[in-house]
Amino acid sequence: MISQWLSRFCGLMLGVVLLAGEAHAEEKIYIVTSLPDLADIAARIGGDLVTVESLAKGIEDPHGVPIKPSFVPKLNRAQVLIVMGLEYEHSWIPALVTESRNSKIVKGNSGYIDVSLKVTPKEVPTDLSRAKGELHPAGNPHFNLDPEGGRLIAQTIAEGLTLNFPQHRATFEANLKVFLAQLNAKIRDWEILARPLHGVKFISYHQDFTYFADRFGMDYVGTIELKPGIEPTASHLVELMQNMKTVGAKIVLREPHFSEKVPNQIAAQVGGLVVKLPIMVGGSPEVKTYFDLIEYNIRELLKAAQVAGVAGKV
Ligand SMILES: [Zn+2]
Repeated sequence: MISQWLSRFCGLMLGVVLLAGEAHAEEKIYIVTSLPDLADIAARIGGDLVTVESLAKGIEDPHGVPIKPSFVPKLNRAQVLIVMGLEYEHSWIPALVTESRNSKIVKGNSGYIDVSLKVTPKEVPTDLSRAKGELHPAGNPHFNLDPEGGRLIAQTIAEGLTLNFPQHRATFEANLKVFLAQLNAKIRDWEILARPLHGVKFISYHQDFTYFADRFGMDYVGTIELKPGIEPTASHLVELMQNMKTVGAKIVLREPHFSEKVPNQIAAQVGGLVVKLPIMVGGSPEVKTYFDLIEYNIRELLKAAQVAGVAGKV
């Protein structure tokens, strides 16, 4: 009798547990992000409460991500959309949000989380008319490459999630605390690791390493692009190479979505070398998390600086 009751009770409890499990799976907060770095950090802050998807892949051009038909239904279902802001995604996100017919994630509404809100943008154009057609009209949006930018991103995501899901405030705050403690420890290590990069002169294809260079004391000599998003002229390249020779710049950074041809030619001309560096999580197979991104870029630059004979003494 007792065993029969026990078996029935256990069966019932199992059913309840299964149902609760299913309900929990259904109730996960669905977050869509523009870029993979935001997805990695949002997954850390949201923990078990969230499912996160990035629309862009790390090897794509973040300013012009190829639109896929799957993006619209994802945005339609999204409870929250997280973007870099500063017009970073202006050529593709606003049109997709309109198409998604999801009022929650429209800019200005609570489901639209802009992680640039705490960032002081660098390189803000002073003459707005000249910014026409350029990709950084509101200032440089590549602050994710500075780990201090990662801190601001995490804090803004935690605040944005709390605003939308106040019942989970304690979880978001606890997860943020863990993330920031790890980040702080990493930043201390990275600053020591990156010391030989102080004063190392470099150019890149696109103006995306400003925040990184400032954090680790590198010297940005110029870009292959004439301006962000504007291809170089022959005279610009001649001037750039002349400048590199004058100041002794040997390192040419190439982001994964740019062709290697011009960077290789420049490196050959100045007796330097090309380093392919990701600007987002997933931009290189080894770079699976935000912490990986910063660490990988420092280590690859250190190797390049040593090979080129320009690494500083620690
Ligand atoms: Zn850019």
